Amino acid sequence: MARRLFIAGNWKLHKGPEEAGALASQLAAKLPTDGAIDIAVFPPFISIPAALRALQGAAVDVGGQDLFAQSEGAFTSAVSGPMLRQAGCARVLVGHSERRSLFGDTDADVSAKLRAALDAGLLPILCVGETLEQRDAGAHVEVVQAQIDAALAGLAPDQLSGITLAYEPVWAIGTGRTASPDQAQAMHAAIRAGLAARFPAFVAQETRIQYGGSVKPANAAELLAQPDIDGALVGGASLDADAFARIVEAAETVSR
Ligand code: PEP
Repeated sequence: MARRLFIAGNWKLHKGPEEAGALASQLAAKLPTDGAIDIAVFPPFISIPAALRALQGAAVDVGGQDLFAQSEGAFTSAVSGPMLRQAGCARVLVGHSERRSLFGDTDADVSAKLRAALDAGLLPILCVGETLEQRDAGAHVEVVQAQIDAALAGLAPDQLSGITLAYEPVWAIGTGRTASPDQAQAMHAAIRAGLAARFPAFVAQETRIQYGGSVKPANAAELLAQPDIDGALVGGASLDADAFARIVEAAETVSR
């Protein structure tokens, strides 16, 4: 069975409610509604309701950029999986490199958040990726595999069907530097081989692996044409409705 391509936009700390509503309205007007691929956007928490309102009737999911592993309690400022669901989110990012490096999310936190997302009925995108030093040391496959192993440990194969992986080399995020299609494909193939070695065959065949790291309209088609790249997690270019729509368009022309 062919894997449906999946394009997601991570708005990071951009777009308050008013601006998020405006961007989402532009996306609603520009993005296809044929459902040929999956599309999602991840606004800041506070802008989720505005984005959802503007995207009503559009074929675009809205998700949170993070979640806390506990459902409720004395955890000032935290947002939980059930709260995201209640707000109307279908998806959530887990383990983004900015969460890991700037907010101290450890592999154990990422694993707990992944479980919390699944328990809440959210579809997580699990982000993994190596630093430039790790790549230069030739340790990139090992590092990414260890991140995946830590996050997925103890999950049953059927729980993995709701999870999308996003390979995002840290050195390519927000830097304008993209992994070459060959570099990205090699890592995606290694990730898929790792899944095949650890889980029943259908998991490796069906799990979608997005690429993330300075994806733009100019490089999207080449990356998405790689056989193990099943979509993109887009940061900067997702803040421009036209650029994001062109990336979606590139995905729609990829035949699988
Ligand atoms: C990201 O935030 O996940 C990302 C890949 O950002 P950018 O596209 O800006 O590199």
